[in-house]
Amino acid sequence: MTHENVEGIYPKSPFLAQQLRFGNWKLPVASQKDQNNSFFDEAEIYVRAGAGGDGSSHFRREKYVPRGGPDGGDGGRGGDVIVQARKNLHALTAFRYRRKFVASDGGAGSRQQRHGRNGQSVTIAVPCGTVLLERQSGQVIADLVDEEQSVIVAHGGKGGIGNVHFKSSRYQAPTLSTRGAAGEESHLRLELELIADVGLVGAPNAGKSSLLARLSAARPKVAPYPFTTLEPILGVVSGGDSGIVVADLPGLIEGASQGAGLGVKFLRHVRRARVLVHVVDGSGIETDPYEAFQSIDGELETFDTTLTDRPRIVAFNKIDLNEARRAWPDFEAQALAEGYEAVPVSVATGNGLDKLVGRIMALLAEAPKPDRPELRKTAVLRPPPVDQDAQLLRRSDGAYIVRDKRLEDLAEKLNFDTPDAAAYFQRQLDRRGITERLERVGTIAGDTVIVGNLEFEWDGPAL
Ligand code: GDP
Ligand code: MG
Repeated sequence: MTHENVEGIYPKSPFLAQQLRFGNWKLPVASQKDQNNSFFDEAEIYVRAGAGGDGSSHFRREKYVPRGGPDGGDGGRGGDVIVQARKNLHALTAFRYRRKFVASDGGAGSRQQRHGRNGQSVTIAVPCGTVLLERQSGQVIADLVDEEQSVIVAHGGKGGIGNVHFKSSRYQAPTLSTRGAAGEESHLRLELELIADVGLVGAPNAGKSSLLARLSAARPKVAPYPFTTLEPILGVVSGGDSGIVVADLPGLIEGASQGAGLGVKFLRHVRRARVLVHVVDGSGIETDPYEAFQSIDGELETFDTTLTDRPRIVAFNKIDLNEARRAWPDFEAQALAEGYEAVPVSVATGNGLDKLVGRIMALLAEAPKPDRPELRKTAVLRPPPVDQDAQLLRRSDGAYIVRDKRLEDLAEKLNFDTPDAAAYFQRQLDRRGITERLERVGTIAGDTVIVGNLEFEWDGPAL
C-alpha cells in the first residue's frame, strides 16, 4: 500500500482523512484482495451475541433455618450486537482490521434470588448508506441510511432460570435450574452505497474529477489518462440548505456492468444519487462523443434498469477545444432527439458551469429520493414453534431418537448437573407420551435414547 504519495493531493477528501490515519498505524498484513483495493466499500464480518447466564441452583441458608428453600436467581441476558449508521464515517476501511465482534455473556444467577448481570452489547459503527446482508443467502437484513439508524444483528441469549422458580407444591424439583441460551451469531456482508445528491458518471478522462474540483473544495486527482480516480470522492458544492453532495465515481468503461474494468465496483454508488450528471469528453480525441455517451448510458441501464428513470443531465465538456465545438451541434441534435438534456461546458475555463449548476439545482429540487424497494428491510420472521407430534425413530445401531422440538429445547437448556434435572426431564418425557411409546416399541433397560444433543441410557419404565 502506498498512501503516502497521495498526501496533500486530496486533503479535503473524507476518504483520505481515513486513509492517512492508517499511515501512522502498524498495519496487519492485508490480504491480496485488500491490496488491490484502496477504497473500502465492502466488508465481511462475523458477529456473535453474548450467551445468557445460567440460572442458579441454590438454597437459602439462615442461622435458625437449617433447610431453607431454593433461592437461586436467574442468569442475565447476553449482550446484543448492534450495527449503527454514523454520518462521520465514509468508508468501511475499519473492517479491514477488525472483523469479529462478540458481545459479552450474561452473568450467572446466584443466591438470594440474585439476577446475573446482563452482558454488554457491542455497537458497530458504519457509514450512512451501508447495506447489511446475510453472507450466505445474500438476503438484505437492513439498509442503514439515516444518522444513528441501527439494527440488532445478533440478539443476546436469554438468561437461564434459577431454582427459586421451580418450587411448586405439585412437583418438587427444587434444585432444578436452566442454562442460559446461546447468543445468535452470523456472518454478515456490508456494502456501502454512498449517499450523494449528485453522481458524476462518464468515461475515463471526460473531466469528472476536474468538474468536482472546480465546483467544490474536494481535490480529486486530475490526470490526462484514464482511471486516475480509483475511489469515489465526495465533494460538497454550495447550494441548497447544507450544500449538495457530489460523488466523483471512477470511470466507467464498456462492460463494467458485467464486471470488466474498475467501474463495476463503483456502479452501485450511483444507485442512491438523486440526479446523475453524465460528463462527456466533447473533444472526442479517443472516441466519438455520442458513441461514448451511449455506451456508458447502456452500462448504467444494464447495471440497474431503474437508473434510466433517474433525472439526469449531460455535461458536454471541453467546449474550449475546437474539436468539441465542432462536435457539439451534432451531439446536441442527437441528444435532443433521444430526449436527453445536454449543456456545453468547459471545466477548464468555467464556461457554461453556472448554467449546468443551475440545471442540477432545478432537477434536485424536483427529484425524489430514489426508491430501492429491494433494500426495504425485509422482516425476518422466525416461524412460530409448531407443536407437532413427537417422532420416534430407530437408528441402525439400535438407538432410539426422539424428535420433539420442546423436548430437544429442554434437553439443551436444563442444567443436568443438579440432582433434580434428570427426574424432571423424565417427567417431561412421560408427559409428552414418549415414555409410553418407548415401552410400546419394546425398549429395554440399557438401550440408548437420544433427544437433541442429550444421549442417555433407558432405565426401564418410570415408577
Ligand atoms: P475524469 O477521468 O473524468 O475524472 O477526468 P479528469 O478530470 O481527470 O480530466 C481528464 C483530463 O481532461 C485532464 O487532463 C483534464 O485537465 C482535462 N480536462 C478536464 N476538463 C477539461 C476542459 O474543460 N477542457 C480541456 N481542454 N481539458 C479538460
Ligand atoms: Mg477522475
